[in-house]
Amino acid sequence: MDISVLGLKVLVRVDFNVPIDKQKRITDDTRMKKALPTLNYILDQGGALILMSHLGRPLKKLKADGTVNVEKFSLRLIIKHLSNLLERPVKFATSCVGEEAKRMAGALVPGEVLLLENTRFHEGEEAGDEAFARELASIADVYINDAFGTAHRAHASTTVVAKSFDDDHKAFGFLMESEVTNAEKVLNDPGRPLVAITGGAKVSDKLLLLERLIDFADTIIIGGGMAYTFFKAQGGQIGKSICEHDKLDLALDLMKKAKEKGTTLLLPVDNIAADDFSNDANRQTVDSMNIPDGWEGLDIGPKSIETFNKAIGEAKTIIWNGPMGVFEFENFATGTNSVAQAVADATKAGAFSLIGGGDSVAAIKKNGLDDEVSFVSTGGGAMLEFLEGKELPGIKAIRG
Ligand code: AMP
Repeated sequence: MDISVLGLKVLVRVDFNVPIDKQKRITDDTRMKKALPTLNYILDQGGALILMSHLGRPLKKLKADGTVNVEKFSLRLIIKHLSNLLERPVKFATSCVGEEAKRMAGALVPGEVLLLENTRFHEGEEAGDEAFARELASIADVYINDAFGTAHRAHASTTVVAKSFDDDHKAFGFLMESEVTNAEKVLNDPGRPLVAITGGAKVSDKLLLLERLIDFADTIIIGGGMAYTFFKAQGGQIGKSICEHDKLDLALDLMKKAKEKGTTLLLPVDNIAADDFSNDANRQTVDSMNIPDGWEGLDIGPKSIETFNKAIGEAKTIIWNGPMGVFEFENFATGTNSVAQAVADATKAGAFSLIGGGDSVAAIKKNGLDDEVSFVSTGGGAMLEFLEGKELPGIKAIRG
């Protein structure tokens, strides 16, 4: 962020889309805390802050009378906490565009903070409307994007707004910069072997990632629900395990491509199966290709953990996206927890590890290992698309 902000009004797109419970309390303020280095830097450098963010999907969840549910989706809910974090008052404009926002922004002096109401209260936001974006831009001198979590969206406040600022008046914030730098480090100059750990419910969600990984990873570990589609495709009995029956050919195709490329694909050889989708279900360890009728695999088994840990232990670069099982159930979290520990151990031994997806991030945090891996991404979907090799519109808008 090497641009001067002294005496300027700085419009920062932050990701304050924090979880808020029924009592209107913020249950996890990680995203707010992660924005602080950028915000404090701008204030310290003599800039005035104009902050914009979305919160939830208000236009998808209108009230019965067709109006926006302001009580539920207003950024007003975070003012007090933001003010505590920044240790100064936070002014609030009840719309991100219009006369009030213009007037309040115009009156700001260096060191002051103005928070604009939820950008997604306006259709122009998600539509990437040019006129709406110009209006957002009109109240500031400089635009900073620090919202990596929405960098894959070509929305007005994340992308289109940047068109109104020249190269000397727009930049990434520190959070965005570190997300981009760390992802590029993995993609452009990885230490080898590069081991990618993939998991989660569906192959279809991770298809592009898997295809890309076949090209540049040395080893791909496939765990979680998506592994069962691979077992089924190879003629295995998978009981009532989760499976995408229309993706069997695709799974075989991915295996063939990996073989041709010389990329090692590691699938679980054993699983922990349950007779019910619940934490308290009966459990048994079963071979992956032979899961009894009426049982479903909800975690990887001990032999798989051993094999996966060995591969992770030999890695110089690790990417992790997706849990090894239904880790929300404590009795089926062993595989995911073991992978989390193995990634932390490998990092300690010198590997670079990037944790890039909502559920793997949750697993790392749950195990208290967030400080023992190299980088924990704040952007689930955005990081997934970055690793898939897509050009993210929010990044392109700044870099050109
Ligand atoms: P994703 O959002 O695609 O990364 O998927 C994460 C979800 O996949 C988590 O909520 C897990 O509970 C779920 N999941 C992982 N393994 C399994 C499995 N074996 N059966 C059903 N769901 C699973």
